[in-house]
Amino acid sequence: MNRGLLIVLSGPSGVGKGTVCSALRGKQPELIYSVSATTRPPREGERDGVNYFFKSREQFQDMIRNDALLEYAEYVGNFYGTPRDFVEKTLDEGKDIILEIEVQGALKVKEKFPEGVFIFLLPPSLGELKQRIVGRGTESQATIEHRLSVAVEEMNLLYHYDYAVVNDDVDSACARIGAIMTAEHCKRERF
Ligand code: 5GP
Repeated sequence: MNRGLLIVLSGPSGVGKGTVCSALRGKQPELIYSVSATTRPPREGERDGVNYFFKSREQFQDMIRNDALLEYAEYVGNFYGTPRDFVEKTLDEGKDIILEIEVQGALKVKEKFPEGVFIFLLPPSLGELKQRIVGRGTESQATIEHRLSVAVEEMNLLYHYDYAVVNDDVDSACARIGAIMTAEHCKRERF
């Protein structure tokens, strides 16, 4: 049995990774989603074990110490990380899994899984990105400024990725990611 595809969907904050990822999961129900651990407090409507595994800093440090995370990164004052066992198990079962993570973490995954499929989601423009971060309305002014400056730096890491997908429209972005997955499966097809 072929191992599943490890798909890493990354890109700057506010580019719409979350929206594209959920739309993609809606269109491809067999695609498994990796639920991350975070020390960020839940936003309204977010559920533990569904959106994230919400952890205290101590619990997160324990996960790091126990090597339970495939990668982790500190992002705007909070920790985020990918639980390792679930990813390994899913791939071993021949199922595709998608990680929706920020850029530093994605680069760490690439060191461990160079065979992964690394997709960078781009905003149509920087102005559009700012609008999206401000428009979300869940962040303070200082956090917005911080997220924007991080986003500009993150854009420079695009060349580490296999594919760039412009998120001009969620459905078209999903269609392009679906095409990438099909191509990657064909690349790995064996007798
Ligand atoms: P938010 O706080 O908006 O949910 O997420 C902030 C950033 O953390 C987003 O760019 C999101 O993709 C990223 N992120 C979510 N989970 C993980 C993870 O497990 N690892 C890393 N490195 N980044 C993550």
